[in-house]
Formats: sequence, C-alpha cells, structure tokens
Amino acid sequence: MDRNQQLFEQAKTIIPGGVNSPVRAFGSVGGIPRFINKAQGAYVWDENRNRYIDYVGSWGPAIVGHAHPEVVEAVCQATENGLSFGAPTENEIRIAEEIRNIMPSMEQIRLVSSGTEATMSAIRLARGFTGRDNIIKFEGCYHGHSDSLLVKAGSGLLTFGQPSSAGVPDDFSRHTLVLPYNDVEALQQTFASKGDSIACVIVEPIAGNMNMIPATVEFVQALRTLTEKHGSVLIYDEVMTGFRVALGGAQSIHGIKPDLTTIGKIIGGGMPVAAFGGRADIMACISPLGAVYQAGTLSGNPVCVAAGIKTLEIIQRSDFYTNLNIHTQELSNGLTAIARQANIPFCSRSIGGMFGFYFTPDLPNCFTDMQNSNLILFKAFFHAMLSHGVALAPSAYEACFVSAAHSSDIIADTLGLATEAFTEIAR
Ligand code: PLP
Repeated sequence: MDRNQQLFEQAKTIIPGGVNSPVRAFGSVGGIPRFINKAQGAYVWDENRNRYIDYVGSWGPAIVGHAHPEVVEAVCQATENGLSFGAPTENEIRIAEEIRNIMPSMEQIRLVSSGTEATMSAIRLARGFTGRDNIIKFEGCYHGHSDSLLVKAGSGLLTFGQPSSAGVPDDFSRHTLVLPYNDVEALQQTFASKGDSIACVIVEPIAGNMNMIPATVEFVQALRTLTEKHGSVLIYDEVMTGFRVALGGAQSIHGIKPDLTTIGKIIGGGMPVAAFGGRADIMACISPLGAVYQAGTLSGNPVCVAAGIKTLEIIQRSDFYTNLNIHTQELSNGLTAIARQANIPFCSRSIGGMFGFYFTPDLPNCFTDMQNSNLILFKAFFHAMLSHGVALAPSAYEACFVSAAHSSDIIADTLGLATEAFTEIAR
C-alpha cells in the first residue's frame, strides 16, 4: 500500500469518506485520491512525492499560481500583527474598494468566508428586500450547500424543485423553482405565471459546475429584462467566474449589471474570503443597517484579506489576462485537436483562465446535453492523465483552471502527455 492509500484508509477512520469536501474523494472517477503535501506555481506534489501539473488550482483560487512568493510574503507579514481581531480593519476597506473598482456593480460589499455564505446571504437579502419567498435557480448550476439551493428540478409538471440532499425539508425546496439553463421560453413562462412572487434569480453566468457552459446572449438579456420588469433581484453568482473568465468577471463580458453579485475563490488568493454585494439600496437592508441578519466571526479575517489584496494587485498587472487567455486556449484547442486525431468524440472550450472538456461530439449548452458526455471515456482519460502527472478535476461536471504559472512550455508538456493518454484510451 503506498502512502496515498495508507492516508486514505486512515482518514476514513476519522473523517467521513476520508475527505472534508465530497468531490475530493474521487467518488465519480474511482481510485485513490492524492493526498497533497506541497504546491508551487503550476505544480502540486502528493505524499508519494509524485509531481502533477495542476489544473484544479484549489478549485479556482490559485489564478496567480500556487504559493506565489508575493502572496506568501503578504500573508506572513499580516500574521505578525495578529491572526484575527473580530473588529474592523483598514484592509477590509481596501479590498472592498479594490473589488468595486473592478466590478462597479458591487456598490456596497460585505465580506464572508465562503462562497456558500455569500450566496446564502445574498438570497436572504433578496427575500428581505422584496418581501417575497420564491427563488429561481437553474439545473446544473451549483451555488454552495445552503438548504434553499440544494434543490433539483421536480419531475414531470412540478415547477417547484425537490431536495437534492437528504436533510433538506420539502417545505424549503417548495420555494425554489428549478428551470433549464439557457431556456428563454421556460424563463418567460415562469415569470408570466409567478413573476410577482419571485424574490430573485440566481445564476452562474458561465456555468462551471456542469463543466463549462456559457449562458447565451439571449438568455442573459432575458434574465435582466424579466427580473427588472417583475421587481426581482438578479444575482450573478461569480464565485467561480469572478476574476477568472475576465478581470471583471462574466458581467463584464455580458455587459450586464446584476443587482447583486457573489464572489469568492480568487479574492482570497487561496485563503477563505468571499463576498456579496451590489446595489446600495439593496445592501442597506443588511444588518446593522437593515433588518436582514448576517454575520461572521472570521469575516474579513486580516490574514486572508492580505492574501486577497495581493492577489487582486497581481491580476491587474499588464497582460495578465491576455497571457492567461492565450495559454488556456492553447490547451483547450490542443486537447481537441489531439482527441480528434485519435478519433475520440471530444469538445473543449475556454474563456479566460477556465476551460471545460466533454466527451461529446458537439459542445453542450445545458445540463441535459452534459448528461450525454461519455463518462467511461472521461474516467479513463482522467486516470491516464493522472498517471502521466497531470491533475484534472476528478469529475466530468467540473471545469478546470489554468494559472499565470502555466507557461507555454508547461502547456506543451501537458499536450504531449495528453497525446499519450488519448492514444491509450482509444485502444
Ligand atoms: N457558487 C459557485 C458558482 C461555486 O462554484 C461554488 C463552489 O465551487 C460556490 C458557490 C460555493 O463556494 P464555497 O465552496 O466556497 O462554499
């Protein structure tokens, strides 16, 4: 038994499933998860001292590369002044102002510690602001693990959703309507019949949780028009796409001004920072100003905020996104070309530093399309790449991430290894 296996067995005796977040358990690809003991730049190393080119990037935050020396330095400096105060600090103003400069729709901002907190709080706020209970989410989008959002589409003619997790009362899911992604007609029909009861619509504007499916222009425009018409709050969940698909997130690509935005991952540079924010009149409803309660012992933690401020500084340097785009495209186009040569049904797309790949003949546009992806080929490819030293997300439904540390050489290395992997799985 190697060390990864040993640790996994040991972990399972004390941590449910051996992991502190389910996708890490390799449940959908099988095999033994790698226990990581070091990450630097574009690489991670496991407990067997194997090195991997990493495209998980801590599930998004590591956009400047792992353990960037300037970020590490900022964190070390911050620790010298204390780890947590439970009182306001100047740096919380600095990071909020920086975020607003980049995403002007976030007129007022509240820091929290996870994306789940951000979306949960944004929804409570939208409900408090509108005085309405119902919310709309879309099939295949993930917004963290709060009760209202762990809801899947109801079967048949049921418009309201059903819990997608045990422990979520049916009564909660009755307030969540689940609609197909990119389906303008379904959205129009729902607003026509229930519009005045809808507190908010929450959407992943480029859905990274069904691999990577961008919202169409028509869909995004319908979202904005219908929410405005019916007085519902439009929430762009940019926890994954913020600072990732472009500096200003998906909203800067769409040219849409959402009412509220949720962000996370990159703004903590690998430390737990997330935020929600938006229209000042809506944000004024949050405590201590307003009646919608929201709080957090470690919100705006000084060490985490220091990592975030430095990360936001680095990503605004010249050519950061130009290079990130180029490298991510090189990878995405390269993988497609190699797979096609090996006669494997495969498509890939990228936006900014995020890419998705699918074992389908055509690019998917919604969750149903994604379900046609060949999971057997995905698993085989995932394991072939891992054995060659490339770490991809261990699920066909997750996007992958490129960082500034992934140079053209590292991308070329990855494509060389992918050629071997595709050849092996085509046999
Ligand atoms: N929203 C989106 C779009 C996400 O991708 C995620 C996590 O991946 C979340 C919310 C939840 O964030 P966290 O895992 O920090 O709670």
